[in-house]
Amino acid sequence: MTDELLRDRERPGDTQNRPPETVQASPQQLLRGASVGMSLGRVVCLECGESLEEGRAVMIYGYRTAESQTWTLRRCYCTACAPTAIGDSTLGVAELLVRAWLGSLALPRTRTHELCLTEIEVVDYRQLSEGSDS
Ligand SMILES: [Zn+2]
Repeated sequence: MTDELLRDRERPGDTQNRPPETVQASPQQLLRGASVGMSLGRVVCLECGESLEEGRAVMIYGYRTAESQTWTLRRCYCTACAPTAIGDSTLGVAELLVRAWLGSLALPRTRTHELCLTEIEVVDYRQLSEGSDS
């Protein structure tokens, strides 16, 4: 009994540098300020190829694997081409579709700008699926 207590007290500073194991945050929180467009200052609509710059509304599709804490943003659409829902769900990943406005993120070190997501609104969301019933 006392052993257990002692073990817990061992090196109390040990855990302090470790990030928390699980962080529960909404996609809005996680994606806020996420950069998109590979610092080209624009992203391109996957459907029509239109260049989307700061100040434009976009639709973004992203996914996240079970092991990952971060969303991978994959497809970007202009508002005219934007899908309204995620199609067939992909096995083993959580998916989301968000509407957002493109903002600008200033990078002081390189003195460049990157596009980032602001005012994010989740349009569709698929939880991590382990398999389908059908
Ligand atoms: Zn388009």
